Amino acid sequence: MTSIHLKKLCIFFALVTTLCLAGTVLFSGCNSTPAVEPRAVAFSCEDAAVTFPSPTSVKLDPDGRFHSRFHGNVNYLRYQHDYYSEDMLEAFASRHYSPGKLLERVWDGEYAGKWLDAATRTAVNTGDDAQLKMVDNFAASLRRHQQPDGYMGIKLPTDRELNEWEVDWDLWCQWNALIGLLTHYELRGEHASLETASRIGEWIVKTYGPIEDKKARFFQGEVTGGLTRVVTIGQLVRLYRHTANEDLLEFVGQVIQHYPPIRQMLSSGEPYLAHPYMLSAVLGGVVEYARLTQDYKMLAKAEQVWDGLVKDHLFPTGSLGEREDLDDKLLKDVPDGQLQETCATTEWIFFTQSLYAVTGRAKYAEALERTCYNALLAAQSVDGMKWCYWTPLRYSKDWFHGPTRCCFFSGPKGIARLPQLIYAVKDSTIYVNFFESSTTTLNTTGGKVHITQQSEFPETGASTITLKTPSDFKGALRIRKPHWTTEFQIKLKGKLVPRDCYVQGYCNVNLEGSTEYRLEVQFDIPLMLEQLSKDNYVIRRGPEILSIDVRDNIDTWLGAEDDLITIPQDIKLEEIKSYSKYQWPGPVDSSAGRRRYAVSVYDDRTSEPRTVILTPYADAGNEGAAFRTVFPLAGEKE
Ligand SMILES: [Zn+2]
Repeated sequence: MTSIHLKKLCIFFALVTTLCLAGTVLFSGCNSTPAVEPRAVAFSCEDAAVTFPSPTSVKLDPDGRFHSRFHGNVNYLRYQHDYYSEDMLEAFASRHYSPGKLLERVWDGEYAGKWLDAATRTAVNTGDDAQLKMVDNFAASLRRHQQPDGYMGIKLPTDRELNEWEVDWDLWCQWNALIGLLTHYELRGEHASLETASRIGEWIVKTYGPIEDKKARFFQGEVTGGLTRVVTIGQLVRLYRHTANEDLLEFVGQVIQHYPPIRQMLSSGEPYLAHPYMLSAVLGGVVEYARLTQDYKMLAKAEQVWDGLVKDHLFPTGSLGEREDLDDKLLKDVPDGQLQETCATTEWIFFTQSLYAVTGRAKYAEALERTCYNALLAAQSVDGMKWCYWTPLRYSKDWFHGPTRCCFFSGPKGIARLPQLIYAVKDSTIYVNFFESSTTTLNTTGGKVHITQQSEFPETGASTITLKTPSDFKGALRIRKPHWTTEFQIKLKGKLVPRDCYVQGYCNVNLEGSTEYRLEVQFDIPLMLEQLSKDNYVIRRGPEILSIDVRDNIDTWLGAEDDLITIPQDIKLEEIKSYSKYQWPGPVDSSAGRRRYAVSVYDDRTSEPRTVILTPYADAGNEGAAFRTVFPLAGEKE
């Protein structure tokens, strides 16, 4: 693309900034002097480019919502290493066909990179020597499987030709290797991992470039119309940031220019309805490219596509897809529960995270909150040792099993990122996005700022944030005001912060003239109904969707296709008098602290409204218990 050359100087500034920030997830090109004027004004740089902290710097507090899930994930990643590390590497060691080889084996190569990404993030967070050694050794083993020409896919050089099915998944596996190796390089500083990633990138460009039209071999695919290859663009941009290899950026530019689904989305602003996991990965790549080339028109279109996905395809629980696909029908709950593939949930988080990082818009932080507190946690068992493939809205969870293991290597990548999503930084402004108990030391342009957040959320809407800053620090703290609150107030050193503090979804508190600040945040967490489609509704408390779980409601019938329960419009919380008589007779509840809320609903079996106990969707359905989340409104049943 000729425009690439015009933008070279700007990209150079962006690259320098990025390399200085190695270990974080974005560059801040908006601080650089642009060599050319932005092509469109759909987006203002002044609002833009916040930085997520490194996973090394944010520690979750044991009292917080995420802590036990994060540490369950640490155990799980160790378990995966103990039981599957040979299998993960075997996918690269014996890539040839063997009799009885299952069709699913062609994507066995995706697991190593996924595991390396998640395990490296958690290892640097805990700082545990054994974990760090485990990831470094695994990365070294993975690197040894690269062919001399850079190839890291399915076929051995002397092997037979790949069949169509294998060709479709060949780059997919290398895409995941790129993800893991680049994370390992960024967080562990291991240049050998960057070199291996770099050779994979060169191999891709050499094998498939240049791309001159929509008929390019790169876009041909029996299974998914080339999506399994086009997903690589985001990682090629990430690789470019570290290597400044222009061939990579030019290749990505050609893909974006010629790939019909991307062209269609960038011209219409409408989502291309396809496999949601791959779609989010492709869109995340488009955002990364637009960010690097400062193409704000392209970025605005990607934002429009994101809006379209939220409007028509995102479940209230924050994930998308039925049977790994999107269609133009209304969203509905389905009895077989084949909704919200965990891979789609995590990739949606990464796409949304990219949009937040480049725009700083609070709506993306709020969307991350929704997905993390609902679909992501729901897909993980409470102890962290099991994962859902589909994340159903009703019945019991079917923990992952079978020859395809994509989700139980994708889910841990999402949990591994939770500490990074709580805060963000721009210059000397600090953003608080999640109300999670945690401590961190953030690098700002005014120096290091130490933060402690003690939060009672999601149990109640109260969080105390204390900051320690350098003596000459001048900056601001911006605390996100969620859309779901109706009352939100902040006290600084005991004094109410004026209501005119709001800037783009955040309450802005200036920090100057002191080295210690204490802020008390208080908000309500209202109960509300949210429409799924037509007369189908979910009950929501703040960002959390609630479910009826049979463990708390043993005499409630949640079965089959029946709609025995309907919910009144004016739903409200009631005091829980006793739920013990309804207790689940199955295994002992592993989450003694599981929250419960009482509401009255209608039940076709009774003439009077009756009380049921709700619990967060994220905790529902463990231990084989039936649960249900979507209900018709009373009086509107068809
Ligand atoms: Zn999956």
